[in-house]
Amino acid sequence: MTNRKMYLGLLLIGMCMLHGMVYGQARTEILFPDIGEYKTISADLHTHTVFSDGTVWPTVRVSEAWRNGLDVLSITDHLEYLPHKDDVLPKFNRPYEIAKPEADKMGIMLIRGAEITRDEPHGHFNAIFLDDITPLDTPDQRNAVKAAYDQKAFIWWNHPEWKRQDGKAWCELQQEYLDLGWMHGLEVFNGGSYYVNAHQWALDHNLTLMANTDIHAPIDEIYDYAAGEHRAMTLVFVREKTPEALKESLFERRTVAFSMNMLVGREEWLRPLVEKSLVLAEPNIRLAGKAAAYVALHNVCATRFDLKLEDRTSGIAASETLTLPAGVTTMMRVQGGGNAPEGVAPVEITYAVTNALLAPDTPLKISFKLNATYTK
Ligand code: ZN
Repeated sequence: MTNRKMYLGLLLIGMCMLHGMVYGQARTEILFPDIGEYKTISADLHTHTVFSDGTVWPTVRVSEAWRNGLDVLSITDHLEYLPHKDDVLPKFNRPYEIAKPEADKMGIMLIRGAEITRDEPHGHFNAIFLDDITPLDTPDQRNAVKAAYDQKAFIWWNHPEWKRQDGKAWCELQQEYLDLGWMHGLEVFNGGSYYVNAHQWALDHNLTLMANTDIHAPIDEIYDYAAGEHRAMTLVFVREKTPEALKESLFERRTVAFSMNMLVGREEWLRPLVEKSLVLAEPNIRLAGKAAAYVALHNVCATRFDLKLEDRTSGIAASETLTLPAGVTTMMRVQGGGNAPEGVAPVEITYAVTNALLAPDTPLKISFKLNATYTK
């Protein structure tokens, strides 16, 4: 090897060391518009590592989160299910402590959390914003949840309908936790599963709507980002990008759950999120006789939208269905009946956004308001 080659080799090794784990990696940004005074951030608050039954080291979860465009990550290893305990010591705070320096380097907000894992009908609960996970490791399930509550944790019910989907998973125990103020949210999505009854329970009981991966394997084994897939995540609307502001937003239910290109949220958040994501380039159209006019709709956000025509101004025809891919401009067809008087008139076209749900089977409806100039 020449001196020059050796120098270049050493330089390359040095650069790799300098850049650590991010070297050569690319981040897929999760683009959603901010809403009013709130910034929109993305969070996966339910993940596992080798410290319970996952198969990756805590720092790997951080680099995955960075590559996947997340702002916030919580590693929530099981307290009670520790299949690797002969090889990895069951120290509940270690996943957070190991991952934190890496998260700080990469600008990922890491939140300390754990999963309380009990049989049905209790099921699994996650608690985050913990100071110390160790007090949650206690035989009685109520004491475990209370230990989280005593640390002012944000607590939610994971995959509520994992074991039964007959609408009867909500039991006395969930009601008790709700009444005690020990349950603040639930997962309407866990990975690729959507829980329709849980969605309704969250609305009925004023709980925060969440989506998380519950990832155990390396993330690339489950989500194919190259094919346009995205991991499940909770979109949170925060006053600022800090753990305190995140916690306030979660308790105040300022979220939209996002999984499999589906958005689930309360109208207060879902409507502005979708309306700000779809930009109408030009509201003025010309309708000449029965000829079609085209209106450009630009989708500026990270999900596709599926639209189904609901209603339109009488005498107007419009595209029956529209698929608006993320980051793409799509044309909506508008057509007059041919017998309208000449002049300018408002036109309103309403679509159901079939992949944006306010409640089970209840899509958000949005209207496009156009000014039509009719000519012969
Ligand atoms: Zn889990």
